[in-house]
Amino acid sequence: MATKARINIDKYKTLLEEQRVELTRELKRLEDQAAGRSGEQEVVAAEDFDEPGGDAAVDATERQQARAMASEVRQILDLVKEGLRRMEEGSYGICDVCSKPIPAIRLQLIPWTTRCAKCAAGGTG
Ligand SMILES: [Zn+2]
Repeated sequence: MATKARINIDKYKTLLEEQRVELTRELKRLEDQAAGRSGEQEVVAAEDFDEPGGDAAVDATERQQARAMASEVRQILDLVKEGLRRMEEGSYGICDVCSKPIPAIRLQLIPWTTRCAKCAAGGTG
């Protein structure tokens, strides 16, 4: 019947490491897209499409969206890395603002969060 107050770090570490791999890949893809590269250039280059108005070119709006998404992904990726760093320090799962433990249910939803729901909603700094 012993209720463990401590969260299972290993579980969140796995989650964060998966996120880190996934987000890194996603960020690379978005950055390529934002730069107008298709990411599949080598494959496409062999076929060398030359249609006017074909979808080989990534249009400006798409590039802009990719850039905006890339910056969001980069922010999350930073938080994920920060979370992993905190695990090594032993401060993972502690709210940045009020220094109280972040509820496990919140960490399951957002494993990279550094604030409890209350402080995150407060929105200061
Ligand atoms: Zn808090």
